[in-house]
Amino acid sequence: MTDVLIVGAGPAGLAAAVNLSCHGLADGLRIVDPSGTWLAAWRRRFASQDIPILRSPAVHHPHPDPFALLEHAGGQGLVASGGTQLPTTRAFDRFVDDLVAARDLADRVEPIAAVGLELTDDGHAAVSLSNGEVVRPDRVVLATNARSPAVPEALAPATAAGRALAGDAPHVDRVPSGGRLAVIGAGLSAAHLALGAARRGAHVTLLARHRLRVRRFDTHPSWLGPRKRRPFEQEPDPHVRRRTVDTARGGGSIPARFRRALDACTEAGQLDLRERVSVVACDDGGGALDLTLDDGARVRVDEVWCATGGRLDVASDPLCRPLLGRSPVAVADGLPDLADDLTWPGTTVHLTGFAAALRLGPTAGNLVGHRRAALRLAASIRGDDPVAADRIATGAGACPVGAVGHPLTGAER
Ligand SMILES: Cc1cc2nc3c(=O)[nH]c(=O)nc-3n(C[C@H](O)[C@H](O)[C@H](O)COP(=O)(O)OP(=O)(O)OC[C@H]3O[C@@H](n4cnc5c(N)ncnc54)[C@H](O)[C@@H]3O)c2cc1C
Repeated sequence: MTDVLIVGAGPAGLAAAVNLSCHGLADGLRIVDPSGTWLAAWRRRFASQDIPILRSPAVHHPHPDPFALLEHAGGQGLVASGGTQLPTTRAFDRFVDDLVAARDLADRVEPIAAVGLELTDDGHAAVSLSNGEVVRPDRVVLATNARSPAVPEALAPATAAGRALAGDAPHVDRVPSGGRLAVIGAGLSAAHLALGAARRGAHVTLLARHRLRVRRFDTHPSWLGPRKRRPFEQEPDPHVRRRTVDTARGGGSIPARFRRALDACTEAGQLDLRERVSVVACDDGGGALDLTLDDGARVRVDEVWCATGGRLDVASDPLCRPLLGRSPVAVADGLPDLADDLTWPGTTVHLTGFAAALRLGPTAGNLVGHRRAALRLAASIRGDDPVAADRIATGAGACPVGAVGHPLTGAER
């Protein structure tokens, strides 16, 4: 039996737990997350942005079999979009709930945080938990998505006045009482927040640093196959891989239907869309905020919501900093150069989510990346080749839908 501690119960942690369970490797499994439930942060974000449909196709979810959700949905709760099916938020939630129940994972999330990590000489981790326990599992999986929200520096006065909200703080049901709102960003979160607030009566100014880019997915689907992935995996320089990840993600983008919805809101006089502008100054005038843009324009608002993404930097993550100190690896703009099984080299600590992007590529932080990370983790514990396990799973049949309720047989493994 391998003792595994998963830190973080988001989609990445769930994909890891489900995979281990599918392979009969969950006996020594513990999962910690202060929320005490699966996907708490995910569900909070979807509620605060009022997101009815996922951006990613229904084949992306935490089960190892890509077709498991489609089969579970039975044609319900799916929205056709350009040759693919997107799950509604409700269908995705239902699938997750049933999956968690089927894998007997429902009550497994302990409502505690990992607060510290130390490495022993043999590369194992001693993890301190918020309940005072120190655990020494065979493997640790960090699935914490430890990003800090990026807030433009010019907004410091608004932040100090509590009028600049970022990360998970903005909520479409809490538009400022004066009703004048600036949303900063050019991605789907910015669009959801702007549209949600406008539909609730706010007058929204949407400020985008570049022209809004229309793209169906945040990363081109060619990144799901070997044509893009293989050269990426073979590139020895982590800094080149880092630049490739950034280029492939290319900043924010929105699907065409959101562009149409923003245009409709503009025509209705609820939205003022300003592209290719940045905020260069912000004055807190007591009753309102005066934003100065780099084109010289001024905008008066009651609150600013930043949907400007988040930065992940292992050097400032308290659970990764000790790894960097004891077992230094190359770090490219905040991301570590992990081993093929996504362990921090020289340790038994695996990283998943966007933190694994230098190995998995630009989709590491998405549902499909979480699945690939989980496949590599299970293979590593079984003593199999993690890269081969990841490749096989991109085809059909790696883990049959029947495996939702039953561990894989030897042949299926
Ligand atoms: C609005 C929005 C919509 C998205 N939609 C899609 C989509 O449709 N398709 C797609 O593929 N991707 C989507 N993504 C991207 C990505 O899938 C999500 O961000 C996803 O939530 C990331 O999963 P995660 O498990 O890495 O992190 P999270 O969901 O953020 O979960 C991390 C968990 O770790 C816990 N944690 C943190 N620190 C500790 C600690 N020290 N100890 C214990 N627990 C800790 C947190 O409490 C949290 O529950 C979306 C992202 C956003 C923001």
